[in-house]
Amino acid sequence: MSYLTITDLQKHYDSYHALRGINLSITEGEFVVFVGPSGCGKSTLLRTIAGLESSSGGTIELDNRDITELASSKRDLAMVFQSYALYPHMTVADNLSFALRLAKVSDEEIQEKVRSVSASLQLDALLDRKPKELSGGQRQRVAIGRAIVRQPKVFLFDEPLSNLDAALRVQMRLELARLHKKLGTTMIYVTHDQVEAMTLADRVVILNAGQIEQVGTPLELYRQPNSRFVAEFIGTPKMNLIPMNQVEQQGDNLTLELSGHKINFPTNRIKEAIPSSVILGIRPEHLTLVEKDEDGDFSGFVELVEHLGSEAYAHIQLPNNQTIIAKASARSSIADGQEVHLKVDIAEAILFNNEDRVISVIPEEA
Ligand code: ADP
Repeated sequence: MSYLTITDLQKHYDSYHALRGINLSITEGEFVVFVGPSGCGKSTLLRTIAGLESSSGGTIELDNRDITELASSKRDLAMVFQSYALYPHMTVADNLSFALRLAKVSDEEIQEKVRSVSASLQLDALLDRKPKELSGGQRQRVAIGRAIVRQPKVFLFDEPLSNLDAALRVQMRLELARLHKKLGTTMIYVTHDQVEAMTLADRVVILNAGQIEQVGTPLELYRQPNSRFVAEFIGTPKMNLIPMNQVEQQGDNLTLELSGHKINFPTNRIKEAIPSSVILGIRPEHLTLVEKDEDGDFSGFVELVEHLGSEAYAHIQLPNNQTIIAKASARSSIADGQEVHLKVDIAEAILFNNEDRVISVIPEEA
């Protein structure tokens, strides 16, 4: 059953239409991540849920209550920002307990809550320090702790890790995942970082120009994107998108062609009328370098090989001058300038039409 229900939510900033009819249902306990390029409306959506921005239309319901017009402080939500927004003159303990004191909670209860939160976030040794005596990661933990003590119905995170360095970001990401497991509270998290989205989320909401482009589990979005936009946004390196001509359709087989190379695609995986040209989407790990020409679906010349230690990525120029990326083994000995042949794992390939919408489905057990 839906816990947070957003229906046809609109937001106008003067003449700018920032949210264009958002519909979304979130179940209790879910970790949902809003992701998308800068300016797509992620923060606006989060801030509108929080009540920090008024909506221009539509409704927001939380736990069977319409909160659309409710003051932010009455929504039972706690927000954690990118800038930690701690009170600089207060100690960690006072920062943690401030909201409880305002709410006239008893001293014993405050002490117990601060003790329990500081233990779970490893802040015990820092309770007497002021924010300026803390590292970035420690400050962000205090900000999260301050949200936890309020026991909100939903946590809202607005790019909480973007001020931290790369190593700390990874550590805090793990801590957040653990925290979510432990608390079981609904969390909504905004980021522009698709790795954060993929690793933290039960479901990812991809936004594009004020609209939801697709909602799904990280794996659904990775394997079965609805559009070229999602296909290119999720996954590093990006999915290869290769324009192909449709040569012929015979029985349950469709032949696609690029510069004399032909690939067969099963028609039972195509869910609509087939256009005369399509775009073949294939991820780098679903291309295999093969030795013999006759085993390959494409051939091209190696422009450069990136060795990452555990794996390598070969950048290969196709006859149409397009460069695609194939994952190679860590110990691959292929060299720049070499001609290579590539085999496509067709079971994992997808087809897009020229309007950038997907027209094929991935078999369940592929
Ligand atoms: P994101 O978080 O995805 O980067 P935002 O939600 O911050 O994007 O902004 C979405 C769009 O709304 C952007 O084009 C931004 O310029 C615009 N916008 C955000 N806040 C305001 C505001 N207070 N006044 C006018 N335009 C705004």
